[in-house]
Amino acid sequence: MNYTDYAVEQILALCKTPSPSGFTKLAANYLIQELKNLGFESSQSRKGSILATLGGEGKPLVLAAHIDTLGAMVRSIKSSGRLRFTKIGGYPENNIENENVIIHTRNGKTYTGTVYINGPAAHVYSDSGSSKRDDSTMEIVLDEIVKSKEDTQKLGIAPGDFVSLDARTIYTDSGFIKSRHLDDKASAGVLLALAKEVKEGTLKLARKTSILFTTYEEVGHGAASGFPDDTAEMISVDMGAVGDDLGTDEYKVSICAKDSGGPYDYDVTDALVRLAMELKLQYAVDIYPYYGSDVEGALRAGYDIRHGLIGPGVFASHGYERTHRQAVENTLKLLEAYLQQA
Ligand SMILES: [Zn+2]
Repeated sequence: MNYTDYAVEQILALCKTPSPSGFTKLAANYLIQELKNLGFESSQSRKGSILATLGGEGKPLVLAAHIDTLGAMVRSIKSSGRLRFTKIGGYPENNIENENVIIHTRNGKTYTGTVYINGPAAHVYSDSGSSKRDDSTMEIVLDEIVKSKEDTQKLGIAPGDFVSLDARTIYTDSGFIKSRHLDDKASAGVLLALAKEVKEGTLKLARKTSILFTTYEEVGHGAASGFPDDTAEMISVDMGAVGDDLGTDEYKVSICAKDSGGPYDYDVTDALVRLAMELKLQYAVDIYPYYGSDVEGALRAGYDIRHGLIGPGVFASHGYERTHRQAVENTLKLLEAYLQQA
């Protein structure tokens, strides 16, 4: 199997596995098992990050992708039996309007429902199109016969229950991957593909290389811990943003020179740009004004490491996202080349 095909297969499987920040066990277990299938033992930090060292020696490098995603949590049960929710991660509320969700109760049961604006019927409410969307004007309507707060409580639903969004994962014949949470499951799939290449001997590591899957990136402290003490360099492999004056699109690997946390390491970024140019990859160097990454968490935690950020271009980020197989391939090719450089 072609490694890009394998990466896409893993991206689809991960996108279909719910993992809002704070409730990532299902996706973590999937990853641990897949790493095992590939022949790698992994370890898990106390807060849930998964680390696997692929091999190689010298200049220890960590590639980090996050498997946590946006989501929500039950805030309270209304007298109608419907749910008020609080967001997990940052996104405009209208990005989840009419989305199907799963409520994960603490007793292990799951229930389905849908996010609506209060008063969604266009035949009844004249302002349903223009009223402001926020967490006080939207609610989750359960697919259960509930008419009161007590009815919903009887199901075992309570404040603090996690809510995952239907990812609606689709892979088209034309090569597009449409799904929520391609941020950052697209890159997690790429890291698994690199592991497979190392195991099958098609990728020779020029330096000690580990892959890290973090579980709290969307809330800001993903890679603040959980990687080896000898780490000299970390590259966040996370989505490239697409929009307005940016060069990244859904087919390219994005190399980020600066984001909200400031500029990335000059030499790391330079080496990535040089390789992308030499390999004639589809790539763009971009600046993201509203963006934080895993490696920023590590730097803010006090680690003295060099840092970089690359990833596949993702359209409509933090909404119903889309990327193309070509972006996955370009990201994989750039990392393959980078890992073979001493
Ligand atoms: Zn991300």
